Amino acid sequence: MPATQLRIAMLSVHSCPVGKLGTKDTGGMSVYIRELACELGKLGHSVDIYTRVHEPKDREIYELSRNARLIHLRAGEDEEIHKLEMYSHLPAFAGNLESFRNHSNLRYDLIFSHYWLSALAGADLQQWWDVPHITMFHTLGAVKNAVKQGAYSALGEDEPALRIEAERDLVQTCHRIIASTETGREELVRYYGASSEKISVVPCGVNLEQFKPLDKAQARHHLGFTCPEGSRRNHDKIALFVGRMDPLKGIDKLIKALPHLEDIRGLRLVVIGGDEHDGHEIEQLRQLARDLKVEDSVSFLGLVNHEQLPYYYSAADICVVPSYYESFGLVALESLACGTPVVATDVGNHRYLIHEGETGYVIADNNPRRIAEKMALLLSRPSADEDRGQAIRATVSGFGWPNIAEAISRDCQLVLADYLKIRNGGADRERHGAS
Ligand code: UDP
Repeated sequence: MPATQLRIAMLSVHSCPVGKLGTKDTGGMSVYIRELACELGKLGHSVDIYTRVHEPKDREIYELSRNARLIHLRAGEDEEIHKLEMYSHLPAFAGNLESFRNHSNLRYDLIFSHYWLSALAGADLQQWWDVPHITMFHTLGAVKNAVKQGAYSALGEDEPALRIEAERDLVQTCHRIIASTETGREELVRYYGASSEKISVVPCGVNLEQFKPLDKAQARHHLGFTCPEGSRRNHDKIALFVGRMDPLKGIDKLIKALPHLEDIRGLRLVVIGGDEHDGHEIEQLRQLARDLKVEDSVSFLGLVNHEQLPYYYSAADICVVPSYYESFGLVALESLACGTPVVATDVGNHRYLIHEGETGYVIADNNPRRIAEKMALLLSRPSADEDRGQAIRATVSGFGWPNIAEAISRDCQLVLADYLKIRNGGADRERHGAS
């Protein structure tokens, strides 16, 4: 049990923690919020996650687990909108949250917001409630822009100045910032002038009960991978990509690595992620595969439920994360937890997650030749057996959500204690000044 059981208002305005993972705005952050809220609930805290109604069918309240709920609030029309449009609905969101809180007779000890849009709503609520505000940006606009400017490929539109200015203000006004890597801390200091002491580094976690090694042959059989897409060809090596169809993920670079891997017989790249809204991106990647004459070796499976992913990680020989940018990189962690080695660019937490040469390789950038070289090294090894899978998994055993939630819980207690000390000190000073 924690020293104090906290009532936490968690904000995830634009991205729904129970939304479809692998779509445009729903990825690692949603997993993070859902898992962390449930785990904080197990520690005895009570957590209400507030998000925007995305579809008319969204129920107002979902019980996620003991002490953790998800509450949908109206802000704008009940439909998907571009996340930037959400900016103009933030006052309505904060106002509706306040009405819900009043109506339900709720009080919170602290606010924990996720992403800059939620942090802006949190800043208003912080003023109204006089409680500390902890935020986690997950990604930073200025860093994304720097990555986009440094890359030779077109990686989508720049992040707007509005976001960057908001993030700059928020690092000053929030009481604590959680970064998931040391690099994240440095970026907050370098790009936004954040005070280093205000930042806690707590990594993201993985559900170790869900993500565990399964027998490779059985996993492949379960997924029907022995006869892909109706063909009789038996693909005996599988490389896996899992993620949103975002140019920053560098999927094109992974496809461009395939012609360099022709020596590996029957290699198949399985790409997971993206829904009907990503048709254009997926078609461009298919066309690239056709141009490179590797289309028979690539399968686009679209979204896969998080619960089903352990089968895919276990069926694969390797997982590749060729991203230009990750704030953490949950996919690499999930893969390792399932005993599958990873080739990943040196972004997010990859360099700390992957044991070089043992559980995979970290590459300086996503140059296709470099990706191919390290993929070939791993693929030329005999397929991982059970012991090897367990050994890979053991390297990430400290990343279970209970550990992460303990660290966040400690931080929350400290921030609240500091906040109350300053607030009560101020009140005392006022009293003494008045007497
Ligand atoms: N994911 C999923 N199904 C998919 C695609 C992705 O469940 O079809 C999950 C994936 O397992 C991971 C998250 O989405 O937990 C992506 O997190 P990551 O940190 O890798 O990337 P982000 O989306 O935060 O950029």
